[in-house]
Amino acid sequence: MKYDVVIIGSGLGGLECAHILSRQGRSVLVLERGGQPGGCMQSYPRRSVTAPHGTKPVWYDTGLHYIGGLAEGQALHDCFKQLNLLKLPWQRLDADGFNHIRIEDRDFRIAEGFDNFIDTLARDFPNERKGLETYVEALKASLNVTDLESAISQIDDGAWPFLNRTFHDPLLIDVLSATAQNMELRKQSLPLFVFTHANASYIQSSWRLKGDGNMLVHSLINDIRHYGGEVICHADVEELIERDGQLVAARCTNGEIYEGNYFISNAHPIITCNLLRNSKLIRPFYRKRVTTAENTNGILTVSLRLKPSTLRYFNYNQFVYKQRDVWEPVQVRDNGTLSIKGLMINCRAPETGEWTEVIDLLTTMPWQCCEPWSETEVGHRGEDYLKMKEQLADKCIAMAEELLPGLRNMVAECYVSTPLTYRDYTLTPEGSAFGIRKDYHYPLLCMIPTYTSISNLLQTGQNLIMHGVEGVTKTAFRTCDLLVKKEELSSQNH
Ligand SMILES: Cc1cc2nc3c(=O)[nH]c(=O)nc-3n(C[C@H](O)[C@H](O)[C@H](O)COP(=O)(O)OP(=O)(O)OC[C@H]3O[C@@H](n4cnc5c(N)ncnc54)[C@H](O)[C@@H]3O)c2cc1C
Repeated sequence: MKYDVVIIGSGLGGLECAHILSRQGRSVLVLERGGQPGGCMQSYPRRSVTAPHGTKPVWYDTGLHYIGGLAEGQALHDCFKQLNLLKLPWQRLDADGFNHIRIEDRDFRIAEGFDNFIDTLARDFPNERKGLETYVEALKASLNVTDLESAISQIDDGAWPFLNRTFHDPLLIDVLSATAQNMELRKQSLPLFVFTHANASYIQSSWRLKGDGNMLVHSLINDIRHYGGEVICHADVEELIERDGQLVAARCTNGEIYEGNYFISNAHPIITCNLLRNSKLIRPFYRKRVTTAENTNGILTVSLRLKPSTLRYFNYNQFVYKQRDVWEPVQVRDNGTLSIKGLMINCRAPETGEWTEVIDLLTTMPWQCCEPWSETEVGHRGEDYLKMKEQLADKCIAMAEELLPGLRNMVAECYVSTPLTYRDYTLTPEGSAFGIRKDYHYPLLCMIPTYTSISNLLQTGQNLIMHGVEGVTKTAFRTCDLLVKKEELSSQNH
């Protein structure tokens, strides 16, 4: 069978493209190398070692903790409506403080709604109201952008210089930046647009799932199948086959060949280039640009299953920083070990009742800390790696206890993922959490477009325009629009 569209990778972007295109009546095939679909959106099961035989496993999340802008008229609402994702059990976080931040010994809240956001912070920083108003203008402007691709390619201002121009009090800059686990804070490169866009929709309204992230993945896949599409796991694409200047098929490592009219790669652009290693159509300049692009840091996630009825669910995220300089949330010591300065605590919304079963502790983890094990594979990294993970979990729990006293005694099970885990499960170079790093000094160099020099190959996913659920979703719609335009053009030419 020849498919209308073959998609390589079942990350959020790949599945969203498959949903959009199969709903419109195209035959769509998604090929996923992993054993489970979803990429960074997938949840993984673990059965408690102490649980009685037959007990259901607990599912732990990877890259979905909270999202913004789901209410009517807000950033993600219309896209999620079209993707049939509004029906999932979303839990809206507290309006008077969806993010609680502790820096040293002072507590702050980030409130929902732009006016509420300004009023809440102006109570702590009365002399900064004007700066807060300027900041909100920048947030709103980033939400009003309809063409993210051209907005990213035109960025010329950095988040760090903007914040320093706009505010007098460095503590307020730290407060506004403390939710840094939703992007990579890097003074010398982070564009203002990425900073504002990644924060703005959360201030509109913030939400988490009542349950694990697989709900979102399965909802998309059920619909794709309902529309006649297919999603195949353990399908590791090793080559995109070209004939007469066009792609004709994807060949997997197991020898299976899947033919298609159009191809969309949801894999990292470096992988896409490798799938086309023999192609003359991919220009050397593009290959060099993709292979030399830097990637954002990875994330360390410590997932804790708690003993029953030990921690009441809290309807907000918590962030704790021991020191004032939030823009340096981690420090890698000379011996490669990680000194953790800031942490996000995410509480899983229970499907029923008032007690939470799972919390995640997240912090930035540069690749340097994983390098000694870079040649190892999942499950075979050795005792010293396990020890390193244990020590990091211990440090994170100690830090989280500042906000959740007695947490250590509540823990029944602990699972730790590092950038190595992400590298091996999603093939992201160096386990990068948010894909290719954007640099406001060189916007065009780090902006990888959705189209390619092969007319029937498009790309999607967090490496192209913007990361995170909102960025990836908007990119998926853009990729599909482009595909439709290409089809129209091709039918006019015939
Ligand atoms: C720890 C962490 C926490 C996060 N928390 C949040 C959050 O709370 N909110 C938010 O909005 N965002 C969050 N993010 C970011 C968000 O998860 C990502 O931006 C998004 O999931 C990336 O989706 P993607 O489409 O780029 O695909 P990816 O997740 O990168 O998936 C790509 C897929 O392609 C597959 N693939 C690659 N090569 C091949 C091949 N050759 N053949 C077949 N398949 C292939 C991979 O196996 C993978 O499944 C978080 C990320 C991390 C790492």
